[in-house]
Amino acid sequence: MVKIKFTSVKMKKRKQLIKKLDQVFSEYIRKQNANEYGMVECFTCGSVKHWKNMDAGHFMSRSKYSTRWDDKNVQVQCKACNVFKHGEQFKFSLKLDQVYGKGTAEELMIKSNNLQKLSNFELKSLIEEYSSFS
Ligand SMILES: [Zn+2]
Repeated sequence: MVKIKFTSVKMKKRKQLIKKLDQVFSEYIRKQNANEYGMVECFTCGSVKHWKNMDAGHFMSRSKYSTRWDDKNVQVQCKACNVFKHGEQFKFSLKLDQVYGKGTAEELMIKSNNLQKLSNFELKSLIEEYSSFS
């Protein structure tokens, strides 16, 4: 009984850490790409808006933990591309290769299939690292 309770507390803690890291990382991606007025360009359609009105969109899905907080895999996207057009994955792949070099999209796809489990300690370090940018 005690052990089960302990595990569920631990899992809850982990869930909170992941949620927090998603938040700080999303903000980091959007702010890092913003100009002095806070404006950023959508990676897949080029529309420009304030970073607060943009999303951080994933090329390989967030369900893949090895690329969930990869700063190539996650780019600024407008809500039209990220939500209504489901991430524009094909355009995303073309732009990745254009910006970072041919083969980048494929590399990310391969990386996304590596099983990676970050420890809670690693999650906390990443939260600290990305929080320091804001
Ligand atoms: Zn867009």
